[in-house]
Amino acid sequence: TIYSGLAKMGRVICVCNQKGGVGKTTTAVNVASCLALSEKRTLLIDLDPQANASSGLGIRLAKGEQSVYHLLLGHEDVAHITRSTELEYLRIVPSSQDLIGAEVELVGLSSRERKLKEGLGDVKNQYDYIFIDCPPSLGFLTLNALVAADSVLIPIQCEYYALEGVSNLLNTIKRVRSTYNNALQIEGFLLTMFDPRNNLSRQVVENVKNNLSSQVFETIIPRNVRLSESPSFGKPVVLYDITSRGAVGYLALSKEIMDAEAQGNTEKAACGFGTGS
Ligand code: ADP
Ligand code: MG
Repeated sequence: TIYSGLAKMGRVICVCNQKGGVGKTTTAVNVASCLALSEKRTLLIDLDPQANASSGLGIRLAKGEQSVYHLLLGHEDVAHITRSTELEYLRIVPSSQDLIGAEVELVGLSSRERKLKEGLGDVKNQYDYIFIDCPPSLGFLTLNALVAADSVLIPIQCEYYALEGVSNLLNTIKRVRSTYNNALQIEGFLLTMFDPRNNLSRQVVENVKNNLSSQVFETIIPRNVRLSESPSFGKPVVLYDITSRGAVGYLALSKEIMDAEAQGNTEKAACGFGTGS
């Protein structure tokens, strides 16, 4: 199959921001789908107990069904919980509400922050990209994602308090770098839900670009109703309305990520905004 054979190691990108509702899941599902549409072998890992990335791709698990929870507890092999999707090149490790209990159940186990990394094993060899959709907190699940990841993609909503919490997140990334994962990079900050008719939206873009400069993706994701409708059909936006502005946005982002990688330039310059020591 397309998933076997020798290839270069895939890159693990976690989509992270401890604020809820900023576009993490929408970004993880849709950028992964766009890369899959470009025939990049892509795996999406749903690490949020709310399981929105799973349901957004039409997968709803009952309690007890095999999910990312079983992977974290070491009860199941990643190959056994990986599912196919409507897109040939996209696979998913789904989540379920069982994940709510994982933190408590892993208390006291050694190296519990490495469970996801250990669970993934050498699966990186089978994919070009692995995306992790993080929950809205900086707790144990997000820590597992940051330890397993090569880079972090940080969605920022074009709204009031857009940068609130970002310095906390950057401090967490710094701590993870110095303790568990010194190769962790910043893939980039992604402005989401941009409304060009809204003054505030335009001010946020300017402010974020001033503060985070070269770390911000050129692509800006517009507010687009197709993006909020497609999950209820269990489809990524490219399979729901590929001509929508939302689809065009995520296709551009996927191209930006592929181009940066082709140029060997996966890390946005690590300057500015709270990253200094
Ligand atoms: P998070 O995962 O960070 O909590 P979501 O991706 O679930 O955020 O987005 C929060 C809500 O906003 C969802 O209802 C989603 O459908 C909607 N949404 C996200 N991005 C957009 C967008 N660009 N345009 C319109 N609605 C969006
Ligand atoms: Mg989410």
